[in-house]
Amino acid sequence: MTALPFLADIESVAPTPILVAPQPVLRAVAREVTPEDMALVRATLPGMFSAMYKAPGIGLAAPQIGLGLRFALVDVADEGERNPLVLINPEIIEETEQLAAREEGCLSLPNQYAEVVRPVGVRMRYRTLDGVIEEMDADDLLATCLQHEIDHLDGILFVDHLSKLKRNMIMRRLAKEQKGR
Ligand SMILES: [Zn+2]
Repeated sequence: MTALPFLADIESVAPTPILVAPQPVLRAVAREVTPEDMALVRATLPGMFSAMYKAPGIGLAAPQIGLGLRFALVDVADEGERNPLVLINPEIIEETEQLAAREEGCLSLPNQYAEVVRPVGVRMRYRTLDGVIEEMDADDLLATCLQHEIDHLDGILFVDHLSKLKRNMIMRRLAKEQKGR
């Protein structure tokens, strides 16, 4: 994949502010990235990576910084290592029947966590920064992360996979915490 030279000194890059729910842009369906958008996408990457690593988080989708475009970052490498991925127009093209529950959180729902049931494995198709179409098989943590980030591009938050009762509880708790900040 394309080198991301700014990552060498990412600590010196100002993190782009991450929007917290409920923000309407987090609930909107983002549009496809076109070649004309690529300059903007590239320009947003340093601030987005900085924000994701600083949080720290393992994924960040463009709507979370208020940009309604279908791209996201992920990095599920162990602490102290890096494996950054930029996904342009990603889509899940296959998923396993087998499901698994995994605890999820979200930088747009700070301090809120819940177990979400999703397919344990997926195949994803996406474009790289160079415009090359690639496919990737993922399972476990990476599969969860990819599904979570692609959900963001469709205005879906992890709490939408929970019961209404649980979702309302989390959203109320979040609103209360945000007020108290
Ligand atoms: Zn999220």
